[in-house]
Order: sequence, then structure tokens, then C-alpha cells
Amino acid sequence: MMYKNCPKQFWYFYNDKAAREGYNVLGENLAMNRGQEFHLAVDEFYDKIQASQLPWDIHEFRIALPQSKDDVVNGWFDWYAKSEWERFEELSKESLEPDKAFMPLHTELKVELPDRINRTGHVDRIDLIPGTKNELCIVEYKCGKSYDMEKSYMLTKMNAEIGFYAAILNKDKRFNQYRITHWKCINPFYEKIWYNNISGVTLKAVEKAYNGLVDLVNDKGPFDRKTSVLCMHCPYFEPCLGSEEARKEFGFI
Ligand code: SF4
Repeated sequence: MMYKNCPKQFWYFYNDKAAREGYNVLGENLAMNRGQEFHLAVDEFYDKIQASQLPWDIHEFRIALPQSKDDVVNGWFDWYAKSEWERFEELSKESLEPDKAFMPLHTELKVELPDRINRTGHVDRIDLIPGTKNELCIVEYKCGKSYDMEKSYMLTKMNAEIGFYAAILNKDKRFNQYRITHWKCINPFYEKIWYNNISGVTLKAVEKAYNGLVDLVNDKGPFDRKTSVLCMHCPYFEPCLGSEEARKEFGFI
């Protein structure tokens, strides 16, 4: 998917480890720092809630998330505690053991599938869908303002990303007894949650795109820059378009 969006971004991701790591270590991108803070806190949230005594209440949900030095992130935590509390209350109406139904099956799961070029990924969370015994939902946290699923291009992009993960998980022995049927995108910036099914059409399109891209890479296709407004959110903006020369050439000055 990355190659299709921007060949140069794909090149940075796979070939320029230093640029990639340097960006993360320097942490000069405020949006990325906020996203990382949110991800880390949400991962610990479930362990803290599980360790706390029943009955739970909404205050415990908020306390299980930290107090940030950044008010924007605190707003995200307030919203997340509330929305997860509402999910728990819904489950309490439907399930005899809502605390168990509430807990994710996995968080921060690294996935890998050996292939022509190994497929790797990182899934934020996997939930068992309430009322089913074997249907799973892939949950992704996306904190950026570009992740608005009401925009059709973003919905397509997200479908492709989730389809890629679903294709890996479908062949992962740990999930033999499950079916990956839905995905959820949680965005605290918009205070919104989108819930969608994973269609067979999407999975077929992902397979086709993956094989096409592998062919291109194996043929050493060109790694051209594909500039757009999304460059402003690209983790490789500095190495790619940081110089005055490059910015001028691609109209960023
Ligand atoms: S900054 Fe733009 S052109 Fe450069 S790698 Fe990122 S998406 Fe591609």
C-alpha cells in the first residue's frame, strides 16, 4: 500500500533505517508524540482495569489513564475513558460476564507472514465480537486529523491497511479457530469510532495489489516521490523534502 501511495516513502521505510529511527528518536513531530503517548497509555489501560476490583466505575476508567502534561492528550484520555465506559455499560446489558467480554484478546500484536516479500504488520488491538464465539474485530487507534473515515480516500486507505492485516491473520495458526470479520478505527482527535466489516472484495483487492507491488519491487521499479498534502504528515518529510532545493522543486515553498 505504501508503495502505491508514494514510492519514495516505501523506499525510506524499507531501506533507510537511520532516517526512520532518527525521526522517532528526535520526536520532533508533535502529532506523532501525541499519538505515541496515547497508544502507550491505552495499552496499559486494560492491564490496570483488569487488575482493579469490580464493580468498576467511570472514574476508575479515567484513573487507569495517565494525566498528561499536554492538555490536548488529556482531552483524548477523558474521551477514551468515557467511550470505553459506554462500551462496558452496553456489554453489561448483554453479557453475564461483561468484564471478560470487555477485555481485548490481544493488544500490540506483531504479525508476520513469510511470502515473496515477507508481510509484516502491527495490530493495535484485537477484540472478540460480543455475541459471537469466533468472530474478531481488528482495532486501530489513529490520532491524526487526516484519519477521517468520512473522507472516501481515507476509508479506502484504511480498508486496504486492515485488509493487509486480515490477510496475514487469516493464515496465522494462532487464529485458526477465528474469523476476522470487522475492523474499528478509534480516533480521539475527532472523538469518533468507525466500525466496518471486512469484505471479500477488499481482501481480493489487497492480494492483487500486494502481488503487483512485489512484481514492481522485484523489477526494481522507480522510487519516485509522489507529493501531496499528505506529505505534511509523512514520517519521512524531513529526509525527503527537508532541503530548500527539494521543497522548491516540489512546490512546498
Ligand atoms: S514526504 Fe511525500 S514525497 Fe516524500 S516520502 Fe513522504 S509522502 Fe513521499
